[in-house]
Amino acid sequence: MDAVDTHVIVVGAGPVGLMLAGELRLGGAEVIVLETRDAPTTESRASTLHARTMELLDQRGLLDGLGAPPREPMGHFGGVPLSLDLPSPHPGQWKVPQIRTEELLGTWATGLGADLRRGHEVTGLAQHPYHVTVEARGPGGPVRLTARYVVGCDGERSAVRRLAGFEFPGHDAERELIRADVDGVEIPNRRFQRLPGGLAIAARRGDGVTRVMVHEFGRAARERSAEPEFAEIAEAWRNVTGEDITGGTPLWVNAFGDASRHAGRYRDRRVLLAGDAAHQQMPIGGQALNLGLQDAVNLGWKLAATALGRAAPGLLDSYHRERHEVGRRVLGNISAQARLLLGGPEVEALRSVFGELIGYERVRAHLAGMISGLDIRYEADPDAHPLTGARLPYAEPGTAGGLGAALGPLRAGRGVLLVFPGPDAAALAGAARSRAGSVDTVTVPAVPEGGEPAGVPALLVRPDGYVAWAGGDPAGLTAALDRWFRADGADASAGSAGDPAGKAGRPAAAPTTTPPTTPTTRTPQRVDRSAPMGNLTGKTALVTGASRGMGRATAERLAREGALVAVHYSTGADAAAEVVAGIEKDGGRAFAVRAELGVPGDVHELFLALEQGLKERTGSTELNILVNNAGVMGGVKPEDTTPEQFDRLFAVNAKAPFFIIQRALANIPDGGRIVNISSGLTKFANPDEIAYAMSKGAVEMLALHYAKLLGPRNITINSVAPGITRNDNPLFDIPEAVEAMSGLSAFNRVGEPRDVADIIAFLASDDARWITGSFVDATGGTLLG
Ligand code: NAP
Repeated sequence: MDAVDTHVIVVGAGPVGLMLAGELRLGGAEVIVLETRDAPTTESRASTLHARTMELLDQRGLLDGLGAPPREPMGHFGGVPLSLDLPSPHPGQWKVPQIRTEELLGTWATGLGADLRRGHEVTGLAQHPYHVTVEARGPGGPVRLTARYVVGCDGERSAVRRLAGFEFPGHDAERELIRADVDGVEIPNRRFQRLPGGLAIAARRGDGVTRVMVHEFGRAARERSAEPEFAEIAEAWRNVTGEDITGGTPLWVNAFGDASRHAGRYRDRRVLLAGDAAHQQMPIGGQALNLGLQDAVNLGWKLAATALGRAAPGLLDSYHRERHEVGRRVLGNISAQARLLLGGPEVEALRSVFGELIGYERVRAHLAGMISGLDIRYEADPDAHPLTGARLPYAEPGTAGGLGAALGPLRAGRGVLLVFPGPDAAALAGAARSRAGSVDTVTVPAVPEGGEPAGVPALLVRPDGYVAWAGGDPAGLTAALDRWFRADGADASAGSAGDPAGKAGRPAAAPTTTPPTTPTTRTPQRVDRSAPMGNLTGKTALVTGASRGMGRATAERLAREGALVAVHYSTGADAAAEVVAGIEKDGGRAFAVRAELGVPGDVHELFLALEQGLKERTGSTELNILVNNAGVMGGVKPEDTTPEQFDRLFAVNAKAPFFIIQRALANIPDGGRIVNISSGLTKFANPDEIAYAMSKGAVEMLALHYAKLLGPRNITINSVAPGITRNDNPLFDIPEAVEAMSGLSAFNRVGEPRDVADIIAFLASDDARWITGSFVDATGGTLLG
């Protein structure tokens, strides 16, 4: 059985399932999410996001989508007030209704290409050596899907857990709180108020709705097959507070007890559990949702890397080891809190001693770290650097050294090696080169005195933001990398974690709707490097912005010379497909890759698709020729240029080429070629294009400085500066305009895309091996005087 419908099926589209789906997509895995409900929930069960969850959302660039949620620095431990303030960019707890969190994560995950299928109730599950079969009742009848892995994110009553036979030991609820959202009542707010008959909590929201929660001391939890009636909570409320809330309108009523259950293992072969499916606990202080979201962030990158054969053996097993231990600890503190909160007069003495202890800063910080998730440390060797296993250190702005530099790669869900200045910096950066498919290397400025992390030459940060390794020994770094990711291009069948080679294929008619960038895993077809073609036979090339104009002409020319060409585009999918089809019709080889440049995660997206395309066709991710052609024009007078327009010009024209080169160097072998497209406007004036010309001036610096760095590897890098060259601009349809523009060239015509493509093809050839760091005028003798 070689064919599967997708890499991973996630069951449950609550916050945990959606977070996991997004993380899997970032890691390049295809994912189908099956959800029983036809529409998103309208209930807001959980409403608290803690500091560590906020950091994780921030890490993925998701915080803007939450707006400015209210922050409460004060939390509680079993109802005893506790300040949650700790060093973090997002200290305290943040009030975000669950519907909002779900909406945000749903938009994110589906935007990344997760295939969310609502109205599907999972009814069957069977494990096989290389895949899992899932049966579901769908809106159109029974559905049967296969995947490499299945993850149950389907809550306390998880169908996946039951169908896969996981044990879920623990105890049922002994005591319970009943709660309701009530409209139209005027009662005072009560914060964990202990009255003689019980515990009462009332919090009026901005929309006038009051959430009430009540527990009568000594009253045992009831066996419930449905949510309680409002009359029951109104009666309990009256018994405890003396207040009558029967005149209010209940919007939502629910009971939750102190049941505590914990799956003994989070993974059984190809089935995994996350969130409440793995651990049931009393939702005190919002820890349940946060614990689940953090399960998802821990699991996503590991599972994606495993499903795609990029993971080191054993990586996936670290999910259970790390998260089960965190779950055990959280369940423990919740159990303790439940006693303090729901116990009657018998716990008063304990509560008062506890209240005194919380007065000690170390005790407070300890408990706050536990509840906020900021104290989580994953397994590390005893002699490892103290930062190992902890979250990427936070330091006050201004003392953060280069830690902010990790955010770009983390946003794209990649690992990152931060290298600080020092004698071994080059060796450390070099050690990570073989993992460039999974880990970005960023060289950062020295940490200012007193800043964090002090005296560490390099930090290896996992895609989930935890430190995998810290130190200065390149051999130690290599060993750490070996524990997480296979070397790029390594045979995944060699170990146990990846899918066996040849077993990772998808069926010809995969039912998933996937974006063009989505990696697929067809059997590699090797390039016939002996085929007698042009002077680039056997080479591979990436041309950015190749859906039209000079990029298209360059892609066609390089393909005619025998290169396998990646035709990059952003919005012109049809145009790019046409370019590929044209090349193939002429006997050449090409494939399209989509990525919008100049936006966060652009380079990651580009290389995900590029490497997949190369791997499928050549069996390797080697790239011989890179042409940075994609660009945007300005056409705005300097006085009208806005900061946003300026930033956009630089982001697409200058920043993207820089980071594409930085990333591509891991794939470019000795003797490679890089060509960057500049513009004649760096040599002759046009006041309407100052900002554009500045961005092109910046791009020219790449050739000068990189030429020196790359000379020892015989990689050449040059700038090509076109003059006025025909493209889709309507100006070229106006004969008078064309005539006027033609007059600027010594040849009395405008340039054609092929004029420039031929120059680029020359620079990409072996004949141009002695040209590097140079500026090549491709303006057709414009404004010679
Ligand atoms: P063009 O016809 O305008 O096409 C631009 C290409 O770049 C398209 O393939 C487009 O992709 C891609 N692109 C634009 N913005 C992008 C973004 N944000 N992310 C990803 N791709 C993006 O180009 P051209 O006129 O041939 O120019 C090519 C290069 O030469 C540019 O760098 C330009 O600045 C430079 N240049 C042009 C002239 C000239 O007169 N034409 C003169 C001097 C220099 P989609 O269409 O798929 O979105």
